[in-house]
Amino acid sequence: MDFVRVEVERRRMTPKRWIPRLFMFFSGFVLLLISLILMITIIGILPGLGLGSLSVFLIFGAFFGGERFECPRCGFKNNFVTYGKHNETCRKCKQNIAIDWIKYNKGEKVNLN
Ligand SMILES: [Zn+2]
Repeated sequence: MDFVRVEVERRRMTPKRWIPRLFMFFSGFVLLLISLILMITIIGILPGLGLGSLSVFLIFGAFFGGERFECPRCGFKNNFVTYGKHNETCRKCKQNIAIDWIKYNKGEKVNLN
């Protein structure tokens, strides 16, 4: 299957975008501490493990950002690509998509690749 190119804008980090991440990171961190305490007590090992994996998920989610993009082939809008990645597969039609990262600098399009 051929590659299709799509341009994805890498948005600037504004407080509106990083405050939820910070919150996510801290709640993940607190959950991690609670799970560690649970795991020290023998009875709490299982809930501790569950909570621990949830907290790791939250902490990683806070660090790995990305953008949504629309599939040029089928128009599916809920595709997600993490920053720095240059190819992705459409979740709906399995089309291989090459990502061209761009940003807008004073209204001018800048290619980041
Ligand atoms: Zn598609």
